[in-house]
Amino acid sequence: MKRGRFAIPACRPARLAPRMPPVDRGQNGEAGMRLWARLAAASAGAALSAFATAGAASAEQPAKAIFSRQHAAAALPPESVGFYSNGCLAGGAQLPADGPTWQAMRLSRDRRWGMPATVRFIEDLSREAARRGIWPGLLLGDLGQARGGPLPFGHASHQIGLDFDVWLRPMPNPRLTERQREDYPFRSVLKPGTFTVDDRIWNDHYTALIKLAAEEPQVQRIFVNPGIKKKLCDTVSGDRRWMNKVRPYYGHDEHFHVRLFCPPGSADCKEQRSTGTGDGCDQLSWWFNVALKPPPPPKPGAKKPTPKPPLTLSGMPRQCTYVLAAPAKAARPSGAEMIATGTSTRAPAAPGAATAFAPMPQVPIPQPRPLR
Ligand SMILES: [Zn+2]
Repeated sequence: MKRGRFAIPACRPARLAPRMPPVDRGQNGEAGMRLWARLAAASAGAALSAFATAGAASAEQPAKAIFSRQHAAAALPPESVGFYSNGCLAGGAQLPADGPTWQAMRLSRDRRWGMPATVRFIEDLSREAARRGIWPGLLLGDLGQARGGPLPFGHASHQIGLDFDVWLRPMPNPRLTERQREDYPFRSVLKPGTFTVDDRIWNDHYTALIKLAAEEPQVQRIFVNPGIKKKLCDTVSGDRRWMNKVRPYYGHDEHFHVRLFCPPGSADCKEQRSTGTGDGCDQLSWWFNVALKPPPPPKPGAKKPTPKPPLTLSGMPRQCTYVLAAPAKAARPSGAEMIATGTSTRAPAAPGAATAFAPMPQVPIPQPRPLR
């Protein structure tokens, strides 16, 4: 079995998954009209009408080209609009590149944007992982674009500020430079050429980290490689209820993907189907016996399937046009890289966890929280 197609360093379910699993099927849907209605009532003004004029021309441009040009959040109340694989983000926040217990990777991609609550969640998760001695810190992969929306490469989802990737690799000490974060190699936890976890890499800390995330009530599901799911099925004892949220998917052998539920206040966010109950281990045989097998050779004379045309604005929730038209949210003042975590309900990190790293600027300037 060729491993190459599974070694791609990102979430690529759309292109890598011609055959969808019986569960976790993506559900694109037209979101409601509430944000649109609010914005229309407030008359977004000249910027909006200018955008609407331009919008006629841009409506058929691939939406990924339009959204990937956005490098500032929309100055709107934070809101996830639409579905994880067809939607956008209003009032996004940017994960600081560094924190006491995390480092963001591949900074040049500018994909550190998410709902403010997602950013806080990541900070809290990394702090708790360090406090428990799981890892000294987390390496964060992609969140999403400044206004969400489809990405030109790497992911089908990550569009509404509720998805993020965590590298399956502890944060190293000393910290990585910006340059190193561009080049630091992805490292699979699987044995080369197989879907079996490499026990020279895997240990209880990996399990503990995924469990820590899965047990958080805000987490809707977590994607891991089927090989990792099998490892959990084979080794976790005691309470296995949390494993229900850990779903096998293509790729995801050098990072895991955390998806949060639609947050309160995002009335136009479309929930994904529940992961149900049980540990999910009963579905693994489909992955190993069907999904991960090489596809059968095409029948002679069979027509090649026509590739799906790229998503355009007209195929997205209407509110996303307004999210694009909104003015830019002011950037965080320089020196305020350390996002305020005063609202966190978690215990502070153990002293050793933070001091093991290079000193960080201690400027947790309180950010005004949106009222809704
Ligand atoms: Zn992902």
